Amino acid sequence: MVVAEASFDTDRIAIRRDGSIAIIEWRSPPVNALSASFCASLLGVLYDLRSDRPGALILASGIGHFSAGKDLTEGDDAPPSTSLVDVQAAIERSPFPVIAAIDGAAMGAGLDLALTAHYRIAAPAARMALPEIRLGLAGGAQRLMRAVGLEKAMDMALTGRTVEPTEALSIGLIDRLSDADLITGAIAFARDILAEAMPLRRLRDESDLLPVPAEAREMLAAYRHKNAARFRGQIAPDHILRALEAGITLPFDEAVREEYRLCQQLLNSPQAKAQIYGFMAERKAASVPDVPAGTIGRQIDRVGIIGAGTMGGGIAMAFANAGYRVVMIDRAQDALDRGLAVIRRNYDRTVSRGGLDAATADERFGRITPLTDLNAVADCDLVIEAVFEQMDVKQTIFRQLDGICKAGAILATNTSCLDVNAIAAVTGRPQDVIGLHFFSPANVMKLLEVVRGRATATDVVATAMQLSRRIGKIAVLVGVCSGFVGNRILLERQYEAERLILEGVPPWQVDRLLYDFGFPMGPFAMADLVGLDVGWDEAASCGVTVQDRLCEMGRLGQKSGAGYYDYDASRVATPSPVTMQVIDDLRAARGQTAGRPVPDEDIVDRCLGLMINEGARILAEGIAIRASDIDVIWTSGYGWPTYRGGPMYHADRIGLPALCARLDMLRDRYGDRFEPAPLLRQLAERGLGFADFAPS
Ligand code: NAD
Repeated sequence: MVVAEASFDTDRIAIRRDGSIAIIEWRSPPVNALSASFCASLLGVLYDLRSDRPGALILASGIGHFSAGKDLTEGDDAPPSTSLVDVQAAIERSPFPVIAAIDGAAMGAGLDLALTAHYRIAAPAARMALPEIRLGLAGGAQRLMRAVGLEKAMDMALTGRTVEPTEALSIGLIDRLSDADLITGAIAFARDILAEAMPLRRLRDESDLLPVPAEAREMLAAYRHKNAARFRGQIAPDHILRALEAGITLPFDEAVREEYRLCQQLLNSPQAKAQIYGFMAERKAASVPDVPAGTIGRQIDRVGIIGAGTMGGGIAMAFANAGYRVVMIDRAQDALDRGLAVIRRNYDRTVSRGGLDAATADERFGRITPLTDLNAVADCDLVIEAVFEQMDVKQTIFRQLDGICKAGAILATNTSCLDVNAIAAVTGRPQDVIGLHFFSPANVMKLLEVVRGRATATDVVATAMQLSRRIGKIAVLVGVCSGFVGNRILLERQYEAERLILEGVPPWQVDRLLYDFGFPMGPFAMADLVGLDVGWDEAASCGVTVQDRLCEMGRLGQKSGAGYYDYDASRVATPSPVTMQVIDDLRAARGQTAGRPVPDEDIVDRCLGLMINEGARILAEGIAIRASDIDVIWTSGYGWPTYRGGPMYHADRIGLPALCARLDMLRDRYGDRFEPAPLLRQLAERGLGFADFAPS
């Protein structure tokens, strides 16, 4: 192979030849985002190549990612990506075959660029998706639907899901799978194309897989109907469905223009702005100011989990799924057997639903070794304690671990609200102790609160943040306080919801309003789902809350057929007169009377206002590093609708002066707890938002 003389930006785009075949490799780290300037460079290269007249051209990435799509950092002010359109036109009009060699991510506009090529070959590590919907956007579906048909295009565009190479080959998204070096495979493919004089396939000109308009409309309507609950509150799905319909009813170029127009509408919408903010916020959460990006974490190969209950089992699965060998310990054989049986059932269920093949499930299950002897964690690099939420039980375990574990092992607790510093203090190595607060079910939930203790070493923090990515979690670093960030804010909402029902607002009204705001369910439906007895102490219960009284009656939520709601055999909820009676009785016992009717907007603002106020306190105390971290916690772990950004983002959109005024009004009407938090008031007075807050 020879490297040709280049008359363009050689830092970003290299071109070389292998006989008659030209190979373009582009580099725009970290993920080859398609910025306007980058597209302009690529276009220049493509023009230069015209006079060169290669037999075929391979488009490839020099950095392991074909392209992750449009450069979001260019913001809304960036001109429409005309240069990308020009690049695509230049490729499609090429008189010689162009082959996209896909490695790593080919996402959004990056996938659409690959679909512009006449043929596609992918490496085993390639990942293809149209993730626009996750950002509240549309785009990239016109060639896709011509490549894979309407049904599969709907699925990809409306879920944003990632397609792996074997599936991509079977649905026609790619033409060949490379089993050796990708470029070598692409060159061989190019030679075959030339030898067999294969036609220059332009997806824009193909319509074999597209249904007739009437059938397409029916398919789109059926999809819309079936997914109504999933799309609730969002505007992007409707725009994507309209773009797909345009692809059926309009000529290709007009359909592309219509899709572009729909995407521009979305780009200017508050929902897409919130979702793009959330996307950036997740990335920002990975950086910790006093832990430089290159900090080398500790080597983690073997993981020990103490406790084979709800959380221990889920955490064991999360690590086993990511390839780690796990030792799972419980104090008694029967508890261990129960825990292991739950894990087996979970894997079997995933297999029966087609989410995993049986051999992979067995392999993952086989990585978990169940034992009752705590000494078995002696050679583990990381030990995560997930036993009962009692300080003395946890401290006993940590004292034992201190004596058993090898030097340098990280000792983590999954406590939901106990003091990590007090747990660390019983060991002789508090620098190695950290909180890893997983959420239930731990093998599914994305969020991980990494709790930094007073003495936690920075390389332990770095290890936890790096490790979280390897097990597919979104980690947010938080400080020690009761409930950390997520549960501390949640508790404010729960308390307020309880106050509201004692004032006479039915639980289902609170639930409906928060559901309408965009939460997957309201606080009472959630409590019924989780189980009212979680965190309830039967011995100490003396009927002082509605929850106490319901638990005392055996109304433990969905699992017992009744909680705040009554449930039928299929767990369909209906408002319960029994609960209303319990509330009336408790109110009477407290000597209270139902107050004036509470307007709907007050119900929502009381719940959300207290959450934001608590978020402000958490920020001021330095428990969260930045406001966007609180938002990431609430969108990824607590069901805050992504199209509303998160509680702190929501506050900034309202405007802090307006929010203060509203809280002042709620304080005058309902009590001092609505007094704006000092940080909230200070920022409002200075005309700033939470996003501007940086701790001094
Ligand atoms: P669980 O009751 O389901 O499981 C606890 C397990 O620990 C049991 O199997 C028990 O036998 C075992 N255990 C108790 N003492 C032990 C000891 N000395 N040695 C070994 N094993 C012992 O509890 P869970 O819901 O899994 O909660 C575990 C921890 O995770 C708690 O700290 C809890 O606050 C926290 N947490 C729970 C959730 C949740 O939703 N359940 C979410 C986040 C964090």
